[in-house]
Amino acid sequence: MTGISDRIPLQRIYESAFDEKKIQLFIKREDMIHPVISGNKWRKLKYNLVEAKKKGFKKLLTFGGAYSNHILSVAGAGKEYGFETIGIIRGEESLPLNPTLKTSSQKFGMQLHYVSRSKYKDKNDSSFIESLRAQFGDFYLLPEGGTNVLAIKGCIEIVEDIDMDFDYICSSCGTGGTLSGIIIGLKGSKKALGFSALKGDFLEKDISQFIHDYHGINYNNWSVNSDFHFGGYAKVKPELISFINDFKERHGIPLDPIYTGKMLFGIYDLVDKGYFENESKIIAIHTGGLQGIEGFNERYGGVIQ
Ligand SMILES: *Cc1c(COP(=O)(O)O)cnc(C)c1O
Repeated sequence: MTGISDRIPLQRIYESAFDEKKIQLFIKREDMIHPVISGNKWRKLKYNLVEAKKKGFKKLLTFGGAYSNHILSVAGAGKEYGFETIGIIRGEESLPLNPTLKTSSQKFGMQLHYVSRSKYKDKNDSSFIESLRAQFGDFYLLPEGGTNVLAIKGCIEIVEDIDMDFDYICSSCGTGGTLSGIIIGLKGSKKALGFSALKGDFLEKDISQFIHDYHGINYNNWSVNSDFHFGGYAKVKPELISFINDFKERHGIPLDPIYTGKMLFGIYDLVDKGYFENESKIIAIHTGGLQGIEGFNERYGGVIQ
């Protein structure tokens, strides 16, 4: 698989508030992996694309919301690696298309198929999948958010790619697939800390299950923090928007409002509250998602600079 640079840079973030505690923060710029298939979506797709090619599939089919980073990544990957792509989109069609769906369909040729929110809930049912096969022909199925065993295998490489000692590794969580790969990659050493982008407390259970399904072992050097979802998935508050704008201005690193902005806001808050021991070395994974900013700004009046 081409498109991935050898090592993804770790960028040190200097803050006077961290100096006092001698805490070192580094951002692993996975957002720079690929211009379209960015961050963890590249990690999650990589071995799935290899598998789909090996098995001779011509089409990829997946599920997502109208602003989904995963939908755009699958569309871009299909274009680059020669697969037709079908995106099953939650909810009614809304015109004009938002930037995510416009790029997915018009630039990358993804076929969009809208299903009602109630029907969308059946996305994992075999009868629904069979009806999709009847409609679209055979396809390689990628679940919503892209998390499966091969996705987790790809995310293990996030850890293998790091050539520096550290104490904590942090990642934003949607399905928890990325954090699962990170935890497996740590092999029980150091600590992994997830920040949930969604409301609810299903993540710890799901992640334990993913890890168990992957290789039957469980670890206890990880946890998920659910205090920084800002009201739920894709919900924001003014202090989050200010943080994201301020962070970009001071450090030159853009963050998205759905995932990475919430994680970094959480890390700063936890440093402030003394959660991390003095002299901790923290690596925060920039999982990408920057494509979503344009659509977010369209809806909320250009609040993100
Ligand atoms: C999809 C996504 C996540 C969530 O990844 P999971 O593996 O589903 O937990 C985190 N950050 C960004 C930027 C994403 O696009």
